[in-house]
Amino acid sequence: DTTSAPNFIRNQIRDEIEAGRTGKIVTRFPPEPNGFLHIGHAKSICLNFGLAEQFGGDCHLRFDDTNPAKEEQAYIDAIKEDVSWLGFEWAGPVRFASDYFDQLYAWAQHLIREGKAYVDDLSPDEIREYRGTLTEPGRPSPYRERSVEENLELLERMRAGEVAEGEKVLRAKIDMASPNINLRDPILYRVRHAHHHQTGDKWKIYPSYDFTHGQSDALEGITHSICTLEFEDHRPLYEWFLENLPVPATPRQIEFARLNLNYTLTSKRKLKLLVDEGIVDGWDDPRLPTISGMRRRGYTPASIRKFCEMIGVTRADGGLVDIAMLYHAIRADLEDNAPRAMAVLKPLKVVLTNVPEGHEEVYEVPGHPARDDLGVRRIPFTRELYIDQDDFMEEPPKKFFRLAPGKEVRLRNSYVIRCDEVIKDAAGEISELRCSVDFDTLGKNPEGRKVKGVIHWVSAAHGVPMEVRLYDNLFTVEQPDRDRDADFLDHLNPESLVVCQAIGEPSLAEVDPESRFQFERVGYFCADRHACRDGKLVFNRTVGLKDSWAK
Ligand code: ATP
Ligand code: MG
Ligand code: MG
Repeated sequence: DTTSAPNFIRNQIRDEIEAGRTGKIVTRFPPEPNGFLHIGHAKSICLNFGLAEQFGGDCHLRFDDTNPAKEEQAYIDAIKEDVSWLGFEWAGPVRFASDYFDQLYAWAQHLIREGKAYVDDLSPDEIREYRGTLTEPGRPSPYRERSVEENLELLERMRAGEVAEGEKVLRAKIDMASPNINLRDPILYRVRHAHHHQTGDKWKIYPSYDFTHGQSDALEGITHSICTLEFEDHRPLYEWFLENLPVPATPRQIEFARLNLNYTLTSKRKLKLLVDEGIVDGWDDPRLPTISGMRRRGYTPASIRKFCEMIGVTRADGGLVDIAMLYHAIRADLEDNAPRAMAVLKPLKVVLTNVPEGHEEVYEVPGHPARDDLGVRRIPFTRELYIDQDDFMEEPPKKFFRLAPGKEVRLRNSYVIRCDEVIKDAAGEISELRCSVDFDTLGKNPEGRKVKGVIHWVSAAHGVPMEVRLYDNLFTVEQPDRDRDADFLDHLNPESLVVCQAIGEPSLAEVDPESRFQFERVGYFCADRHACRDGKLVFNRTVGLKDSWAK
């Protein structure tokens, strides 16, 4: 069964609810708006929104916007669109960590008054050096014992823009000898004279992730703050802030293993590099594992949600999920739901010599073999057709059941034809086949012989020219970024995009952007949402027909 895998967080919450230890649950999805969301984020979205849905709780969308230099409104817009497209609704307004900057500042002052925070004049390098290592305790900063008054005044000057970047920071006063380096007087505020997309030029100091995240959770009444395992070591600090500040609630942090997928990257920073270097066609390039790229490639929201359910949620780190599983999820969806069509990717002209010029038949065939609700398509048959170059061989091997000189094949939904003559151009390339039709084979087997092969075709008179983009994995190796010292760009697949000038059956002429099809015998395709909007007929290959995912 591929429907669901273990999800320890779901089990834990179910137990808490059954034992009456949890009331209404509130989760949040907290992206930083410094890039587009990818399939790893989809795992977190499905988890957080899924739990709220399943247990009748709420899930907030909160932008974790404490680093204005790297953030942009365009990323905020894209992230909102991706979450909605996946089919989730956040409870209440879109929230921003920056909504809480005033409160966080007041809490920083509170820590100073309690003797639990101080302004430090050490440089960033010195702070790193004083912090020590895993085997060596840290040393206290010479500024650690400043008075409350001095600290309050310096923090105020930092806030007012009177201190240069890098000159001072605010640190919590916790324990420079703690075995957990995160507790060795972590930084609460840095000076940044940067314009912020939400707060404008109001702030000259910005809080750290650690000083922001748990308190934002508490302010929003988050009950379960779910994050990836890299934050496990930060949990004691998360709890320290909640214990040492007058917060209105005590959320709990729970960590799970991030998603890593083979043949691709799940790091915004690295994806951004591919975009910035022009290696791909923007953040929604169909080869990227971004949600918007997958959308453009033809993934359905249901297939992505299904995939996230199939991979489960554990604390086992370091695993690599096979991308074939993702392909399996979308293929299963499209197999059931995508209407069929015929399209010839590499056209080879066929002239049916015993069909008169101007002759035309139209076949009505089902839109989908098992789905009456998908209607019928009308397929015209004429004297000149196109078949795919791969369906003809001049010197075929034994088990080639497609077309060859003197051999017969069935045209899908139509007659059996025989190849009588191969026409070549001056360069010796095959330019055309001359074939004849056996008119006694429509809907029935030919007399006295078996014809095994069936090939797809399109009427030359009625077919529509279209561009087909064949996408493949962007990388040739399973973990392009495994070797930290090497460049993942060395492993790019030069054939990740192959463009064909194809001919499609006439029903494809008027498709809506993002409509999905199975091109029979070829694969699953989606009408490109940008090109189709501009009046061009472009189809992106979502996935091939053959499933290689083995459980
Ligand atoms: P990246 O490293 O790609 O920049 P991030 O964690 O820095 O990712 P955020 O915008 O902070 O990006 O992520 C928002 C949420 O999505 C976080 O809770 C984070 O833990 C989760 N998330 C990010 N990447 C993955 C992943 N590969 N698998 C599961 N969850 C992820
Ligand atoms: Mg993050
Ligand atoms: Mg990041």
